[in-house]
Amino acid sequence: MKIKSAEILCVGTEILIGDIVNTNAAFISQRLAQLGINQYYQAVVGDNPARLKDAVSAALKRTDLLIMSGGLGPTYDDLTKETVAECMGRKLILDQRSLDRIKNRFAFREQCMTPNNEKQAYIPQGSTIFDNDAGTAPGCAVEDFENGKIVIMLPGPPFELKKMFDQSVMPYLKRFTDRRFHSVNINIFGMGESAVENELKELMQGSLNPTVAPYCGDGEVRLRVTASGESNEECRRLCDNTVEIIKKSRVGGYIYGIDMTLAEAVVSGYLSAGKTLATAESCTGGLIAKRITDVPGSSEVFGYGAVTYANEAKIKLLGVKKQTLERFGAVSDETAREMAQGVRSLSGSDVGISVTGIAGPGGGSAEKPVGLVYLGVSSGKQTRAVRLLLSGDRDRVRILASGSALSEALKELKAII
Ligand code: ATP
Repeated sequence: MKIKSAEILCVGTEILIGDIVNTNAAFISQRLAQLGINQYYQAVVGDNPARLKDAVSAALKRTDLLIMSGGLGPTYDDLTKETVAECMGRKLILDQRSLDRIKNRFAFREQCMTPNNEKQAYIPQGSTIFDNDAGTAPGCAVEDFENGKIVIMLPGPPFELKKMFDQSVMPYLKRFTDRRFHSVNINIFGMGESAVENELKELMQGSLNPTVAPYCGDGEVRLRVTASGESNEECRRLCDNTVEIIKKSRVGGYIYGIDMTLAEAVVSGYLSAGKTLATAESCTGGLIAKRITDVPGSSEVFGYGAVTYANEAKIKLLGVKKQTLERFGAVSDETAREMAQGVRSLSGSDVGISVTGIAGPGGGSAEKPVGLVYLGVSSGKQTRAVRLLLSGDRDRVRILASGSALSEALKELKAII
């Protein structure tokens, strides 16, 4: 099926009475324009089942694609899914995965989930479901390919709608258009999502083609630059221009790669410089070595990764001095340096990286709290340590520490070549 035209229908009495401005319609219109999908009508309807049904039926007589926002919530007046299901002859059925996601979201926030929230996991039968990473109500697309109709339902809160649209609806709709698309991911480490957004506010909010959307996780930020056009070359050119602008901004110094993971950037960087790397890990228990060896071809640059969890292992394998451990402790600047030096000389590598810290949940003190991590870096040029104070549970502290260690490995490479 190819979509020739679309309509937008926003649900909510508060829009009709002017309490809120219909920014969702503006956002969806911009995205439809990028997709090259024509839009001929746009409407708002209050939370009234009969009028909602009329509006949906009228739109489906005119258009192939109807995109709706609002009315997916848990309360009695949230009736969008019920009405669309009725108009398209579908039953609402419980989607267990969506219910589990809603339950997890409440549990994560230590909030009590009231029974009416389960309503949000009831979806018209046979729909494509769009996960809601910013709220509870999932979105969905109800497809009637026989009659060439698709109805997409999205949550009302703009923050939820935008995220869902860029993450799931854009890729979904691209299947139904002839336009070409190209995306480039800019990978950033060491600068938080809000700082990145702040630096690139104008570009992110003002640019329609390409769009620039941020995603974050595991202490990293990824900016996805997506361009649409008539040909692949045109899309690539548009993306390249925007990537250059971002590289020249303050964010540029934190970019470690384009379309690659941090470990891939480390392996390809050391490979092209002809340098080698070794690791000595305590609290990360081999996670850095795992991330490096996940990358095919890493054996060319990485041959030694020691897990030295016990003090005795730090002494025996890495040559950390007993006095250092006694005087400063295992989690200290001094121990981190000696670990990095030790693994470098043991392996004969160009760079040695070490990690020692308190991942929790126990083991912390007022002086050395959970999340305190020292990274050691040793090369022919220098030996240094970096102190980190990381937040989160055990898993998160270990993931963040291993990411910072990989980032330091890249920094040191730049210093020695
Ligand atoms: P919820 O679970 O929050 O009830 P919902 O999908 O049912 O989500 P609504 O209840 O219709 O959505 O809207 C929730 C809020 O989102 C509104 O109070 C309003 O602040 C905002 N909102 C809804 N529709 C729009 C719109 N078209 N443009 C801008 N903001 C909107």
